[in-house]
Amino acid sequence: MLRRRGRRLPGMQPRFRSTSRFDAVLCDVDGCLVDEAGGPLPLEKLGRIAAHNRLALDAEDRPIVTLCTGRPEPFAECLARVIGNPLLPIVCENGAWLHDPTDNAYLLDPAVTAEDLAAVAALEGWVRRELGSAGVSIQPGKTASVSLYHPDAELLEAFKPRLRDAADGHGWPFRVSGTWSYINCDLRKVSKATGIARLLALTGIEAARCAGIGDTAHDLQIAESVAWFGVPHNRDPILDDAADRIAAAPGVDGVIELLAHLGPPVP
Ligand SMILES: [Mg+2]
Repeated sequence: MLRRRGRRLPGMQPRFRSTSRFDAVLCDVDGCLVDEAGGPLPLEKLGRIAAHNRLALDAEDRPIVTLCTGRPEPFAECLARVIGNPLLPIVCENGAWLHDPTDNAYLLDPAVTAEDLAAVAALEGWVRRELGSAGVSIQPGKTASVSLYHPDAELLEAFKPRLRDAADGHGWPFRVSGTWSYINCDLRKVSKATGIARLLALTGIEAARCAGIGDTAHDLQIAESVAWFGVPHNRDPILDDAADRIAAAPGVDGVIELLAHLGPPVP
């Protein structure tokens, strides 16, 4: 095997090359492909992205859409199957994990140490102990980060300073941030940017041949890692300066609109 994970070998052939401007689109999940608040998956529209990916694989005339998300690996792996991406890795847990569908490899960032994972477990215990009675729950499935949920987003937001104080007080190495409905506590050493860097190293695809799509502040790290960045209409305006294009439509309709803009037409 010629490739090594985490570092691109000189002269390495890219795993995928299209005849269009881009080889890959790194797409966020919540707010872009699915509704973060829940509800049925928009399977008909995700099916159009799967058809797009099928054409990418068959005709090599467009980029493959893959995922770059804060979601846990199992959720993201399932969604990657829904959108028909059997070739390019996905970035999960805001960069902590990659899943490579070509050999079913689960790739934790090698910079994450046993001490880091002990801090994750300690933070989980603290959240259950200190915030559990207030109705805060922990999103299941994450193993190298902690995401907090409460149905009242304003109440949840008010817990951020306590979380930051607890992390600082214990020396836990977390970055406390959030999406629309969750507080994310990610190891500072990982991010969507480090995840994308590992994906590019693993596949030999150049950043200059990648586009990205996202809707919240985490996705600035996607914007910084790719050559073109688009946002669905429902984006956080904090992304507007980084966006090459703002879709007229929200969510998955916006993603399809952005893919159509990059061309060729989405089936
Ligand atoms: Mg999102």
